[in-house]
Amino acid sequence: MQSAEAILKKHGMRITQFRLDVLNIISTAGSALSNQDIENKLHDPDRITLYRTLKSFEDKGIIHRALDSTQTAKYALCAGECTEHKHHHHHVHFHCIACENTFCVDNVAVPSIELPSGYHVLDINIIVDGTCEKCR
Ligand SMILES: [Zn+2]
Ligand SMILES: [Zn+2]
Ligand SMILES: [Zn+2]
Repeated sequence: MQSAEAILKKHGMRITQFRLDVLNIISTAGSALSNQDIENKLHDPDRITLYRTLKSFEDKGIIHRALDSTQTAKYALCAGECTEHKHHHHHVHFHCIACENTFCVDNVAVPSIELPSGYHVLDINIIVDGTCEKCR
C-alpha cells in the first residue's frame, strides 16, 4: 500500500500533518468511515478543517463516498486509478446491518445496465445490505 505521504504527493497536494493523519485513519480503517468516525480518531479534531480536507481529498480522487442505505456519508480510499474530478469506480458497496460498517467490495463486477437511447450513464452506485463475515 502507498504511504499517505506518497498519495498526497501523487495528487499534487501539499503535505500537512493533519492531512497525513486523516489519510492514515481512512487507509487503515478496513471499512468506510463517516465524518464523525474520523473526528473521533483524531488527536486534535477540527471540524471545519476536517470537512475541507475530506472535500479536497474527494475532489482530487484520493477518497470516494461509499454510499449505503443510511443517510450518513462515509468515505473510503480510492484504489489508485482515480484522478482529479474523475473517479473510476466499478465496485459494489456492502453495508452490514449488524455492525453498521460499509465496505468496498472489489472484484465484484457491477452489472451493465441497458437504458433507453438518449440516457447516458455517468456512475452506478450499488449498495448491498446484509451481514458481513464477522457478524454472520
Ligand atoms: Zn475514486
Ligand atoms: Zn458486520
Ligand atoms: Zn468504495
